[in-house]
Amino acid sequence: MPITDVAKKQLAQRRRLFAKVCMRCGGNNPIQATRCRKCRSEDLRLKNRALGAKK
Ligand SMILES: [Zn+2]
Repeated sequence: MPITDVAKKQLAQRRRLFAKVCMRCGGNNPIQATRCRKCRSEDLRLKNRALGAKK
């Protein structure tokens, strides 16, 4: 079932992309996180891909 509501789709994409990924364990963290919630590592990278890069 495709998402027809554009606003909802944009929100979902933002929720999915605006996150931080741990360099050590690969866990997802909130954008405001300073350290990983799984392994407490501070090696976090921003998961911030361009919209529409992947279908
Ligand atoms: Zn981690």
